[in-house]
Amino acid sequence: MTGVWTARHSEELRRGITIRIGYADATFYECPSCEPPSNYSTTKVCPNCESPAEFLRSVSFVDCPGHHSLMVTMLSGAAIMDGSLFVVSANVKTPQAQDREHMLAAQMIGLRNMIVVQNKIDVVDRTRAKRDFEEIKEFTKDTVAENAPVIPVSAQHKLNMDALIWAIQERIPTPKRDQSLDSRMSILRSFDVNKPGTEVEELVGGVVGGSITQGIFKKGDEVEIRPGIKTETSGKIVYESLIAKVDGLQAGDGEVKQATPGGLIAVGTDLDPSVTKSDGLVGNVVGRAGTLPETLEKVTLDIDLFEKAVGTEQLVAVQKIRTNEPLVLNVGTAVTSGIVMSAREDVADVSLKKPICAEVDSKVALSRRIGESWRLIGFGTIR
Ligand code: ZN
Repeated sequence: MTGVWTARHSEELRRGITIRIGYADATFYECPSCEPPSNYSTTKVCPNCESPAEFLRSVSFVDCPGHHSLMVTMLSGAAIMDGSLFVVSANVKTPQAQDREHMLAAQMIGLRNMIVVQNKIDVVDRTRAKRDFEEIKEFTKDTVAENAPVIPVSAQHKLNMDALIWAIQERIPTPKRDQSLDSRMSILRSFDVNKPGTEVEELVGGVVGGSITQGIFKKGDEVEIRPGIKTETSGKIVYESLIAKVDGLQAGDGEVKQATPGGLIAVGTDLDPSVTKSDGLVGNVVGRAGTLPETLEKVTLDIDLFEKAVGTEQLVAVQKIRTNEPLVLNVGTAVTSGIVMSAREDVADVSLKKPICAEVDSKVALSRRIGESWRLIGFGTIR
């Protein structure tokens, strides 16, 4: 649909940026003369009747790789999504092992607006395609995808893409955005875009990339970044928030004067690029100076645990959270570890190794060490 193979990250490779989350943009157009779904396309000229099509919407797709070790990547990407496409292959049984994990995670972080995409329809016969459809319906029963449309496609042959756009338009509408809310962006990536050996006077400031969750960012804004950077004062390690000026905003289609939620944005700042290089600010929150929530060194969470730990071979039953146990927490795009100071019935106080900037009621993904790995066991809600 985007014409970009996100797994290859060609744009990022070309610019020599470390790969963490892959994304690609597409623009949807609607032909005024054709009937749905064949009125939908990603081209300015209707592929059916060749009349000029009207711009509908720009969409960013974030790739959430299926491998278990990339679960955290998926969670950080999911924090900024308006909806999701759950992609299965018609030529293998549904669900595959990671399908259950992803469905659980989607449910946990409150992802709604799901569409099931049944790919590789070109390599199976009608009987198998129908059986796979039944498997999908059985698998999605009692999940957030229970009533999700199932769109058969062939990505390889760009088959049925119009129907998929139609489903996206119907099921994942652009949410109502209130521009008067305080601006917020979660940082997914951060870079130093200067080539080695650049003359001092040619250097440009640090760049942060992510998705705006609310409000509006404008060129010239004074913004704050929290928790910021680690500093040491009289032997104590503290995080100091950063203040920066927005020098430029880059959206999917180039330089913009202002940016609102939807899609991924790169924000050029006057920060020292050594602060932003190598994803140094991932997990931070950006907002207009003076409006961000407090940086938290400990959190009190209302706890909801899964019955079984995600990703375990034998589906280990999840025991209650214990005082003194270490946990890994994902909040927005931030990842931190913490120690449970006190665990009561469905409530836990957690002391964080690295502080976070998060609002009350934010969802926190909780992982516990089981065997050799950190496994997702449930989520908390910040009190
Ligand atoms: Zn047309």
